[in-house]
Amino acid sequence: MNYAGFDFDKETIEFLNSVDRGNKLPHALMIECADEKKSDDLATFLAMYAVCDKSDRPCGACKNCINAKEKHHPDISYPKIKTKSKTYDVEQMREIIKDAYILPNDSNAKVYIFEKADERFTPLVQNTFLKLFEEPPQNVYFILQCKSTRSFLDTILSRFTAVRIRGGESLDEKALEAAENIVSCLTESREYPLLKALGVLSDKELSGDIIAALRLHFRDAVVFLSGGKTLGSRETAKKLASRITRKKLMEMLELCDSFENKMKFNVNINLLTTWMCGEFRRIIWQR
Ligand SMILES: [Zn+2]
Repeated sequence: MNYAGFDFDKETIEFLNSVDRGNKLPHALMIECADEKKSDDLATFLAMYAVCDKSDRPCGACKNCINAKEKHHPDISYPKIKTKSKTYDVEQMREIIKDAYILPNDSNAKVYIFEKADERFTPLVQNTFLKLFEEPPQNVYFILQCKSTRSFLDTILSRFTAVRIRGGESLDEKALEAAENIVSCLTESREYPLLKALGVLSDKELSGDIIAALRLHFRDAVVFLSGGKTLGSRETAKKLASRITRKKLMEMLELCDSFENKMKFNVNINLLTTWMCGEFRRIIWQR
């Protein structure tokens, strides 16, 4: 692999090496990264890998590589939204699926790169997209770029290999620890320790990162339940998934969103923390 012109972190290089070793680029790949530039670079590199016809790919020098890098390769599409809305519609998704079965022009592969996929794929569009996996076309690769995978249905998540790139949002160590603590109290369903653990959310500096870390744990547990690959600790996901139902996990994910939204409005953090504790209690101990 020729990384010239790309600056990947250690984990991304490890992932790319494992792809190369097995000579197997996943057909359905999701790049989760808060930093769009980093996400774009990886998507471009993977597209070069898919279309390059040299033995050590991507060579970075052949016509396929150069066109892929400059984003005008005939076999690589970046589907733009056709309507005035901010999301794809079912009709367009059907056209993309149809197109995917047409053979490539200049190379041996076709690649579809969906930018901002988390904002552009409605659940309805995701369901249409799933039809593709009933009879997946050969040598076609789908790369979905997103800031977070949480808006995707588990049926989609379980079919995609997710690659997470750090950047733009590296989480505070203390926040990670606090989130771990909350998760272990949740799995033990002990009310008082849970409320005490949630108290750390009143630290305004940390609360954003704690919520981000919690969301990752909940999301991983949902993915674990549908047999997908977790991004964080699989052990923690397993523990959560064995104690908390999927429905409750989804409610907790929504709760994390609400907390963040409320934070934007500069509300009193102590009141917000109290509210959050109440909501967690309601979700955990509801019948
Ligand atoms: Zn090449």
